[in-house]
Amino acid sequence: MNVDERILNLSNLSIGYKTYRGVSRVVDNVNLYVNKGEKVGLVGESGCGKTTTMKTILRVIDKNSIEIPDGGKIEFKGKSVLDMNNAALLELRRNGISMISQSPMSALNPVFSIGEQLKDIIKYSEHYKGSNDKQLTEVAKEAIVSVMLSDPDRIMSSYPHQLSGGMRQRICIASALVTPRDLLIADEPCTALDVTIQDQIHRLLKEMVDEKNRSLIMITHSLGVARELVDRIYIMYGGVIVESCRTEDLFLNPSHPYTQGLMACVPRLSGGGLSAGIYGYVPDYVNPPKGCRFAPRCKYAMPICQEKKPEDYEVEPGHFVNCFLHADTTYKLDVGKEEPHE
Ligand code: SF4
Repeated sequence: MNVDERILNLSNLSIGYKTYRGVSRVVDNVNLYVNKGEKVGLVGESGCGKTTTMKTILRVIDKNSIEIPDGGKIEFKGKSVLDMNNAALLELRRNGISMISQSPMSALNPVFSIGEQLKDIIKYSEHYKGSNDKQLTEVAKEAIVSVMLSDPDRIMSSYPHQLSGGMRQRICIASALVTPRDLLIADEPCTALDVTIQDQIHRLLKEMVDEKNRSLIMITHSLGVARELVDRIYIMYGGVIVESCRTEDLFLNPSHPYTQGLMACVPRLSGGGLSAGIYGYVPDYVNPPKGCRFAPRCKYAMPICQEKKPEDYEVEPGHFVNCFLHADTTYKLDVGKEEPHE
């Protein structure tokens, strides 16, 4: 795919929350892109900056509560999101990007029926501009049926509390896909759901994104979910993209110590006791480590890791790893002869 097909491009994006203790730099120099029709995963543990990054793309975080240092860019279809005025942002949310949140209950308004909420979304889309109520109702019912919910008339007149968690999440998927927007951001859409329906929802999401040729960013803490759904993966740790590559390359050749730790956390059907896990916690974002943010938890940490931030090193075409272990030979000679320690 060439750069012209790029839907979303984040470059050198840092985001800090203003707190009483100082600026909490939860996202640090992120570079990420999504091509047209591509499914991308953003994977990392809770609190690593995934949701903040995505909410900033939609500019739904109060701009007075965050700071974005100069040089950071968010471009959607070539336009700078950070420079958009209110009218352009409304247009972006109505016709450009949709988002499925972690909690369907908080995403749906409890005092409006499902039908009213769906029709509202459709009404403000460029594609259905000027449609009358009958046409809006038809489109809303089709959207309900498309997420495999029967009896659309009953659902249209129901309120969110009258539906089960799985039904509400399907409605959220329907509302995100009912109008032709180019990019869908799914923020851990199955976190609040029973495991028995998680798989169904993931499959449905994948099918609908493929069918409508949309682009998808799937935010998840599960490598297994990402493996099933996406073409490329970004692994995020402590607000930094530590590894990015095609999904199959990640599983064939996980190269960052954090990615290797995440893989080791996955329970195996073959048994063998508890998974290894990753010792420690995500860093304090107000006073993060000076060098590599993963250094306090990394069993391979070298003195240079405490002093300097690593760069992205390309270990194979299109596979980038933010770790000194993959620096070029000359640089490794410079940093010393430390052996990995247990
Ligand atoms: Fe570990 Fe150093 Fe690599 Fe960071 S840069 S992941 S501390 S080896």
